[in-house]
Order: sequence, then C-alpha cells, then structure tokens
Amino acid sequence: MTDVVVQGLSKSFGSNQVLKALDLTVPSRQFVTLLGPSGCGKTTLLRLIAGLESATAGEIRFGDKRVDRLPPGERNIAMVFQSYALYPTMDVARNIGYGLEVRGTPKPERAEKIGTVAKVLEIAHLLLRKPKQLSGGQRQRVALGRAMARRPDIFLMDEPLSNLDAKLRAAMRGELRRFHLDLGTTTVYVTHDQLEAMTMSDLVVVMNEGVVQQIGTPEEVYGKPANLFVAGFIGTPPMNLVPAQVKNGVLTVAGTPLPVPLPPNAPAELVLGVRPQDVTMATPGEPGAIPGKVWMVELIGSERLIEVEIAPKIRVTAEVRASHRAALDDAVAVRPDPGHIHLFDPTTGRALT
Ligand code: ATP
Repeated sequence: MTDVVVQGLSKSFGSNQVLKALDLTVPSRQFVTLLGPSGCGKTTLLRLIAGLESATAGEIRFGDKRVDRLPPGERNIAMVFQSYALYPTMDVARNIGYGLEVRGTPKPERAEKIGTVAKVLEIAHLLLRKPKQLSGGQRQRVALGRAMARRPDIFLMDEPLSNLDAKLRAAMRGELRRFHLDLGTTTVYVTHDQLEAMTMSDLVVVMNEGVVQQIGTPEEVYGKPANLFVAGFIGTPPMNLVPAQVKNGVLTVAGTPLPVPLPPNAPAELVLGVRPQDVTMATPGEPGAIPGKVWMVELIGSERLIEVEIAPKIRVTAEVRASHRAALDDAVAVRPDPGHIHLFDPTTGRALT
C-alpha cells in the first residue's frame, strides 16, 4: 500500500518557477493522471517523484516514508518513458530482466519473472529479438514489461503512448487500464491527451502553469469544472464560455433572459459555460433561445458543429446531428440546456455553486 504525498513542492530552473508550492495526494493503488498543456510542469513533477530532479522546496512521501532526499534507486519506483529507453544491444528477455539482473536476482527467478511478464503482455514469442526488430507497439510493451518485472511500489509513466499511431494508442489505452486493474500498482501517468486521461484514470490532476487547478474523477473534471481554465481545457469541442449579466435577478446573455437558477451572491457580471453537446438549435424569438447568425458550419463525422454569432465576436457552438442543415448567415437561435449550464466568476475564474 503506497500512496504518494506531495506537499508544498516548488521547483525552479534559474528564474523560471515551474512548480509553485504544489500539493497532491495520489491514493494507494490508484491510476492518477497529470494532465495539462505543454510546459505546465507535468514531467518536472514526475521526475521529482522519481528522484531524477531535486526540489527547490517541499516534501515528497511514499506512505509515511519521506523520499525526496533518496536517490532514485532507493525509491522502488519504475519509470516508463516516451522514448521507451530500451537497451539496443540486449534482446527482449534481457531488457525485461535487466532491473532484476543489476539487483542480483538469481537467474532462475529472473527467468520465471520474465516469463510471467511476457505472458501477460503477450510478447513471449519476441523474447529473443532485439529492440530494432520490433514495432513501436511491441517496444512499448517491452518497456512496460521491464517496469512490471521489478514489481515496484509505484509506476511513473511519461507519455508512454505518444509515439504510437492512433489505432495502436487506442488499443494500448485499454490494455494499460487492464494491467492496472490486474496489478493494482499505484500509478502516476503524465499526458497532455485528455482522451487518455479520461479513459484510463481513477483521478485526473489538471495542471496549468505549475499549479494544480483541480483534482477529481474524470466525471468530476468534465461535469463540474472548478474554474474557467478546467472548463476550457477539458472537453472536445471546447465548452462555450460567454459573458452573461444578472439583470433584475435574471440571467441574460446578449440581452436574452435565460431560465437558469442563480446561485446566491452571484455577481452582476459572470461567465456562462455550456458544452456544444448541451446546446440545441431553435428559431429566433423562442423563449430561452439566444438569436444570432450562423458564422461557421463544420461536419465532424456523424455530428455537425454550428457556430452562431450572438453578439459582435461572441459565438456559441452547437453540436447537432449531421442531418441538421444550416447555411452561413442564416438567422437562427441557440438554446443552452438550462440543466447543463456552468457559471463562473470572471474575476477569480472560479465556478459559482
Ligand atoms: P510537455 O507536455 O511539453 O512535456 P510538461 O508539462 O511536461 O510539458 P515540463 O517538461 O515539466 O512541462 O517543463 C515545464 C517547464 O520547465 C518548461 O518551461 C521547461 O522549459 C522547463 N524545464 C524543464 N526541464 C528543464 C531543465 N532541465 N532546465 C531548464 N528548464 C527546464
């Protein structure tokens, strides 16, 4: 049972403060994803947990043991990198068993562990090959196998699927999730791909600019974004975020009153968020529908995105069936589903509840 506790962790490279007094608890046996835009500090945080970088301030504990001054080799972690970092001259079996070999595990025990891991990962037929004789997906499995063979307390994975093509990546997402459910090893996984985060994780940690923005289950970060950053970052196509006003106790957008219950103490100016999936098309003049003009129409497979300009430079996108026709500049209206509206304070960015 190993949870990972990070407290007040800061890291600077010269004058660039990459992590800012970050707090995070990764509960034992959970698969936790660090998700955020490029440069937000995900890899740096993972490398600090691994011991490959040292912190400027703060503490890291595995269970009740403080580890931030221990070298990587004494942390009982296994790291899987984007590049796989396999040894090119060694065959697959030796690559998988290398961590055990350097620790002096006897050969028969090593062979048994290599065999078990290879069977789980379905690479037993590849054990005598060299890395260059493998496909990207096979190399990826070998890298995972090497991490698994050591039976670490914690897996740390840095975008391990990003070098694979889209189809293989989709298959490996399912496999990784399955391995996790079978092994139950605490896992910290870095990605900027929200589909990976949403499909594999028990908990998602959304980061931006070295700060944790929200920690929650995939359902929570999607359904109850804590602030404007999370609202805009999670979800494809992105959530509509438009200015709104409270007039005589009624929420209005571009002059149209909407039947939305307001939280107590709602400021006069706020930001309304609604996902394109929760917007339907209507005709101008219908109550609860904001009139505008079709600005752009885009077909995305079985759905169509209709972007409607409701005020100068303020647009709302609706995701509708592909069979729904709309022409540029048509006079239409968009109706946000009152049951799926998010309200934010524009000053603090925080969700109003
Ligand atoms: P990506 O998704 O692009 O990998 P990330 O969220 O993992 O991004 P980090 O790799 O942690 O981001 O980098 C965060 C910031 O720290 C970046 O501005 C980066 O340039 C800087 N940085 C990372 N490592 C070093 C280093 N060794 N020396 C100096 N600056 C660094």
